[in-house]
Amino acid sequence: MEFTSEHNDFRRSLEAFIDKEINPYADEWEEAGAFPAHELFKKLGDLGALGITREPEYGGAGLDFSYSVVMAEALGKSLSAGVALAIGVQTDMCTPALANFGSDYLKRNYLAPSIAGDMVGCIGVSESGGGSDVSALKTTARKDGDDYIINGEKMWITNGTQADWMCMLANTSEGKPHQNKSLIVVPMDAPGIHVEQKLEKMGMRASDTALIHFDDVRVPQKHLIGPMEGLGFMQQMAQFQEERIWGAANTVSGLEEAMKVTTEYLRQRKTFGQPLMDNQFIHFKMAELSTEIEALKALTYRVAGLQSEKGSMDLDVVRLASMAKFKSGRLSREVLDWCVQFHGGMGFMLEARINRMYRDVRLISIGGGADEIMLGIIAKLDGNLPSKKSKTAANA
Ligand SMILES: Cc1cc2nc3c(=O)[nH]c(=O)nc-3n(C[C@H](O)[C@H](O)[C@H](O)COP(=O)(O)OP(=O)(O)OC[C@H]3O[C@@H](n4cnc5c(N)ncnc54)[C@H](O)[C@@H]3O)c2cc1C
Repeated sequence: MEFTSEHNDFRRSLEAFIDKEINPYADEWEEAGAFPAHELFKKLGDLGALGITREPEYGGAGLDFSYSVVMAEALGKSLSAGVALAIGVQTDMCTPALANFGSDYLKRNYLAPSIAGDMVGCIGVSESGGGSDVSALKTTARKDGDDYIINGEKMWITNGTQADWMCMLANTSEGKPHQNKSLIVVPMDAPGIHVEQKLEKMGMRASDTALIHFDDVRVPQKHLIGPMEGLGFMQQMAQFQEERIWGAANTVSGLEEAMKVTTEYLRQRKTFGQPLMDNQFIHFKMAELSTEIEALKALTYRVAGLQSEKGSMDLDVVRLASMAKFKSGRLSREVLDWCVQFHGGMGFMLEARINRMYRDVRLISIGGGADEIMLGIIAKLDGNLPSKKSKTAANA
């Protein structure tokens, strides 16, 4: 993946936007536990940043995924990882399936307004009973006349208290768990939807996260994403790939920022008459971490390039996206742990930027498919999972 002068111009305009519209309010939003999503998304929509890869017919810019990487990277350096996450949900987590498989009706009524910044979206996969085992989710959408009637709940939903619509994964039949699910666009003002609470989190505090109940919620069947029921699991797996690559790009630049913040601190803070950075252990550790971040960046660029070429269903893309997601989670924990360590007591203070980063990155190993789920996908695609046959033989 190579960045051209167009990429660099786009990056500069995003950085200017972030400096003006996000960074000055980051502390206030962190304190409030939410940010004004409609207001900010409208401004991002006006900038043309919410539909970078989407079709021009629906207001998108029709560019390739490398431009989404630029946006993820620019947001990774902002002062609010929570706001960056919320924007990523809108651009690369709740809209890919709608853009790739949705009807013209759905795209006009939900995708186009989301690209314009007139609507806020969210993605509803996880439930209190479990997020990792997507096939086991319990929410149902049963047919009644021209409608679905939806019952169930969705947990930990980013943008959940502010969203106008949800891309929901629900069971539309009793069949096999990978073939009985569908993605449905659910308008969040429908009667029977109850946003129970804004959840209190250790990190990503500027983004709102909610538990949402659905009691006999009527949604027209034309809100089904795709030509028929039963494709939802596969569509969501494809949607996850874009989410994971976006997340990896966002993580890489966030880690670079954490290293910059820490480097500045280590150069000015003195112990035993010399800057902390002059200790060999410290500058060697920083060099090691920089190397790891570069390696993750190379992996991320490789899979982002491949994604542009082959799309999210390609198995090489799935394998490398899972690796990038896994490595992002593990490396963030390692890098931020050292960064806090090298900040000493200041690193332990809630007010320190590095402390907020430490708390924010902990999500990466959990959300959007935990590390262990990524390892399972990689092992499967490498052909290393024990077959059902060999498991049965071993148990006999
Ligand atoms: C801040 C935040 C925002 C989120 N936003 C959204 C959102 O917008 N939409 C949405 O749908 N979800 C969202 N989630 C949910 C998130 O995707 C889930 O928390 C995640 O998928 C893990 O599911 P779980 O919490 O149920 O963990 P569980 O499935 O209960 O697993 C617990 C832990 O067990 C381990 N584990 C699980 N399965 C295995 C296995 N097979 N082998 C080995 N170890 C295993 C993993 O370490 C895992 O973390 C969000 C979560 C958070 C915290």
